Amino acid sequence: MPSMNNNISILDKDFKPYLSKEEIQVIIRQVAARINRDYADKTPLFLSILNGSFMLTADLFKNLDIPCTVSFVKLASYRGTRSTGNVLTLIGLDEDISERHVVILEDIVDTGKTLSELIPTLGKRNPLSLEVCTLLLKPEALKHPMKLKYVGKKIPNDFIVGYGLDYDGQGRNLPAIYQIVD
Ligand code: 5GP
Ligand code: MG
Repeated sequence: MPSMNNNISILDKDFKPYLSKEEIQVIIRQVAARINRDYADKTPLFLSILNGSFMLTADLFKNLDIPCTVSFVKLASYRGTRSTGNVLTLIGLDEDISERHVVILEDIVDTGKTLSELIPTLGKRNPLSLEVCTLLLKPEALKHPMKLKYVGKKIPNDFIVGYGLDYDGQGRNLPAIYQIVD
């Protein structure tokens, strides 16, 4: 494992330390405290968006002390007909969410395109409520404004890896988050 204070290389790119694993845990504990308060009597269903959100989901869950459940889902985008345009498909959500308070768990919101398509798709299944929890947000990159109830931290518009986030499939195993060096 690389030392946390050093730059790292993944494939052809160099990255510098940006958020330590301790800083990430502080952010997650703050978000979890808010969720524990807001959802104390709601038994929320967390929808963890794979692949990137697996580490966030594991660490957030260790800090939740309310009744709750989780489902892991994947999103696939394929080209539909000319009239439908690109179609977003949700894979792995088998359960009925119509009696549930749903919280989407995302690693990072960048342009917001993914969530701007997912939110109406889920809305059609009539959840009791639908909110978003994202570890990170790049406000400068956001092109699809939306309500984000829980934002762990706002970050600059630079590419990052680690803690579930990948560069070409690699780097998800890093316990800290690194920012690209250009
Ligand atoms: P959006 O649809 O908001 O533009 O993008 C959301 C997805 O793009 C995120 O869930 C994440 O998988 C990926 N993404 C956005 N920014 C970054 C980044 O800086 N690094 C990595 N590794 N993935 C990112
Ligand atoms: Mg993601």
